[in-house]
Amino acid sequence: MKLLFLGSPGVGKGTYAQVMTKALNIPHISTGDLLRNETQKDTKLSKEIEETMNQGGLVSDKILLQLIKTRIKEEDCENGFILDGFPRTKNQAEELGKLTGITHVLNFKANDEVIIERLSGRIICKNCKTIFHKTGNKPKIENTCDKCGSELHQREDDKPESVKKRLKIYKEKTEPLITHYNDKGLLVEITINKPISEIREKVILEIKSYLEGKTDKIGEIK
Ligand SMILES: [Zn+2]
Repeated sequence: MKLLFLGSPGVGKGTYAQVMTKALNIPHISTGDLLRNETQKDTKLSKEIEETMNQGGLVSDKILLQLIKTRIKEEDCENGFILDGFPRTKNQAEELGKLTGITHVLNFKANDEVIIERLSGRIICKNCKTIFHKTGNKPKIENTCDKCGSELHQREDDKPESVKKRLKIYKEKTEPLITHYNDKGLLVEITINKPISEIREKVILEIKSYLEGKTDKIGEIK
């Protein structure tokens, strides 16, 4: 079972990957984690990655593919994996296809209002970067970090107008990728508008029954 998780910013893809990695007993491979792990090492490659990231640049497809290639050869990937964070473009998808087959592509969705509510409620500690939420995960003292006592603020990126822009850019950018996997018959859409804490078991059940071939679509999980 080689799964690919797709989803726009704020959709909760990382959380769903965490839930499903346990439920399916296959590892969650996030390219963000792969890069961070690699930079912990003292190699030529790690220095190259660190330099690129420090300059705010994007790590090349070649490096990402190399990291994925090495990771999926590890023993815990014998029964499959959940890949998250790569590919982001059709071209990357084609390159990945040369490296490994993908059996299912799960495209997580939520209504725009839900995503805007989630992201624009996010407040972050200026000092230690801990994330809180205006409604969901409130700090104990208003506008103050529980961990270090510093002031909280909203990132420019998380203001409603910026979130709308980010969503629009994401949709335009990933459309060819979505079409690519849809044409191959690998894509399934999953809409989740409720907090995962309320429907965790249902999400697991519905995704499992899809992966077992008991249903051919998922749609909205309520
Ligand atoms: Zn803090």
